[in-house]
Amino acid sequence: MKNLIAALALTLMPAAALAEEAAPPPKWSLAIHGGAGTLDPKAMTPERRAAYEAALQQALDAGAKVLAEGGSAMDAVKAAIIPMEDSPLFNAGKGAVFTWEGTNELDASIMDGRDRSAGAVAGVKTVKNPILLADTVRTQSEHVFLMGAGAEAFAAEKGFAVTPPEYFATPARREALERLKAEKLSALDVDHKFGTVGAVALDQNGNMAAGTSTGGMTGKRWGRVGDAPVIGAGTYADNRACAVSATGWGEYFLRVGVAHEICARLRAANELKTVMADADDIDASVLTEEAQYIADAVMADVKGLGGDGGVILVTPEGHAIFSFNTTGMYRGRATSAGVREVAIFGGEEKASATPDH
Ligand code: ASP
Repeated sequence: MKNLIAALALTLMPAAALAEEAAPPPKWSLAIHGGAGTLDPKAMTPERRAAYEAALQQALDAGAKVLAEGGSAMDAVKAAIIPMEDSPLFNAGKGAVFTWEGTNELDASIMDGRDRSAGAVAGVKTVKNPILLADTVRTQSEHVFLMGAGAEAFAAEKGFAVTPPEYFATPARREALERLKAEKLSALDVDHKFGTVGAVALDQNGNMAAGTSTGGMTGKRWGRVGDAPVIGAGTYADNRACAVSATGWGEYFLRVGVAHEICARLRAANELKTVMADADDIDASVLTEEAQYIADAVMADVKGLGGDGGVILVTPEGHAIFSFNTTGMYRGRATSAGVREVAIFGGEEKASATPDH
């Protein structure tokens, strides 16, 4: 009798309601960063902290809105990065650090985990949002990586406005360059932190994307390019494994191939799991730890060589993970389970990293 009632209820249920019942709950996840570094809680005034938190929140909300409304991971990554490029607080777009010669030279990269299409630019001086130029290289050229004058000629051809170089310059960054020269300091001495920005996202269709944008390191010269625009070092996305964006001492991230290394190790772990007969028995919390473990192991490798910095990543299961070997990293994460948090120093997260339903 019970079965009969259940069957009857099913036949009477409108098709749309049935589809709704059957569809898995939407799951999305986003993580952002605004640079890692030797941040000192005592040196951070409440006003400064509030300004950074507000800027991170704005970026997080912009990306989360795209994902919550069913938009793509690629669009979410761009939506999150643009406000950080526009904010003078971060070392990307406006507020970029100065080169030795006193110019601002911008690097950016973006990657779509669905087909591993990627675009990157290095050393551009007149493009307001380099992340959009990187994406245009991805979608409207047959190339992955354009640099300098060539990248700007491409931008002009694709209709990008020419932004006057003064737009990018801020007094604080100029002062950092002057101090570096006067006191013969290294970029790490004057910056104390890396202000590169990045975002990684998993959308409701299970696609992932990653993007990173930076001005590089103060006093860079001879056309120095760090990891941020290099696919595999500062940015990587592969639907089979994860999406990663990095910030830190670029030379070390280049040598380790950080973003690809993390994705490659996770992919190998995932492949192993699918061939394990008892794969169904693995509980989701182990998967978070595995991704965290791999990210921490790769960051330990960076540290072992003498480098520092951090990474953000999302996984196909929706974990939003941070790993950094500095005292702090400007960061935030949001998931479909209602996580919405920004943090600066180590250990400030309150919520679980996973969108459990
Ligand atoms: N990774 C960037 C670079 O080396 C710097 C940063 O993260 O702020 O150019």
